[in-house]
Amino acid sequence: MKTNLDPNFLSPGDLARADTILRSCVHCGFCTDGCPTYQLLGDENDSPRGRIYLIKDMFETGQVDAAQITHLDRCLSCRNCETNCPSGVAYTDLLDIARGAIEQQQTRALTSRLGRWLLRRGLALPGLLHAAFGAARQIGRWPGLAKFLPVQISLSRASRSMVIPRPTTKQVLLLAGCVQKAATPNVNLAVEQLLGVSGIKVTRVAKESCCGALNYHLGDHAAGLADMRRLLHTLAEAGPDGVPIVSSASGCGVTLKDYPSHFPVGDPDHELASRIASRIVDVVELFDDHSINAAPIRVAVHTPCTLSSGQQLGTNVADVLTRAGIDVTATGPQLACCGSAGTYSVLQPKLATALQAKMITALTTHAPEAIVTANIGCQMHLGAGTKVPVLHWAELLWRQHEALNSAPGRAPQPGL
Ligand code: SF4
Ligand code: SF4
Repeated sequence: MKTNLDPNFLSPGDLARADTILRSCVHCGFCTDGCPTYQLLGDENDSPRGRIYLIKDMFETGQVDAAQITHLDRCLSCRNCETNCPSGVAYTDLLDIARGAIEQQQTRALTSRLGRWLLRRGLALPGLLHAAFGAARQIGRWPGLAKFLPVQISLSRASRSMVIPRPTTKQVLLLAGCVQKAATPNVNLAVEQLLGVSGIKVTRVAKESCCGALNYHLGDHAAGLADMRRLLHTLAEAGPDGVPIVSSASGCGVTLKDYPSHFPVGDPDHELASRIASRIVDVVELFDDHSINAAPIRVAVHTPCTLSSGQQLGTNVADVLTRAGIDVTATGPQLACCGSAGTYSVLQPKLATALQAKMITALTTHAPEAIVTANIGCQMHLGAGTKVPVLHWAELLWRQHEALNSAPGRAPQPGL
């Protein structure tokens, strides 16, 4: 694609990056059919190719208009188009540059700017998150009131179980995730116990802060980069170099693996970002070479875009559960999106609800007893649209492992 970008509209770094990305697109349209918003709306401007043209136009004219903002805001950043693109177009990077430029221009209505600011600030306050989810748990305990909660919420706190100690052969650092540790604290406990019975010593990262995804993807690049730099240095000090850093929320994991793209050559943290990113693993990757035994149950597996298109781990959760003896009845459509997408379900509720309904229909076709996923945002969003319990896969696997080993007449067993 030929370009003639306005040098006054973007910073030199963003201009060069945007130019390279735009020139790599050959307009073939292979990305279009797999785009969830194009499938829903049928408008080329809501497809990746259409959005690339809108962004090119914005960067060439130096003008932002309301229609461009509307179509770019509807993008889920699900990266399915990147997976389908034969030319390797880094669409999400281009979109992030455009979103940063839109915020810089301050062309949004005041109410929209205020709403986005409140969202960024509110979700970044751990105390507020803990208070909100704590209050929701209290409400849910009153008979008849749980149905009024907008999301499924686990009312009980799991306790640490007695597990047969195994010699530890490995150690990892565990990231708890800002929203996850407030909304579903049982997930990190389950991860610790699963890893414990697998002979892996787990240390939680102390003073963990936000990975930066929230601010960055909402267009506040300065705040997003500051978040990223802060966490980068926390992780560098958290444990010996070379020890894997485990994330169990795939939305955080994909951001952390992508850190090198935010700290280019010349940045003082360029090398550190590459070293830390090379140590990031999603928890499912730790179960690639062994399995946990578990009592059978019928589940549908939802694979977040951040795990499939973002981390190329599309079948790993279903494989781990199947090896454990769990009956995976459905895996949902490949390269689709449930509509959660960070803050998307708040900012684009109509589209998010339509995508949620499609995903739930696909996942519940064979009447599963539970739906599992790998990201807190997807877990809460899907849970708000169905009566079927929606859990993180690690929590379900730990429950089933415990159920098997506490069955009458069965001696407790180690995980492997
Ligand atoms: S982004 Fe990739 S798949 Fe889409 S039109 Fe451009 S080159 Fe083709
Ligand atoms: S990131 Fe997802 S929603 Fe956005 S253009 Fe690509 S496929 Fe469509």
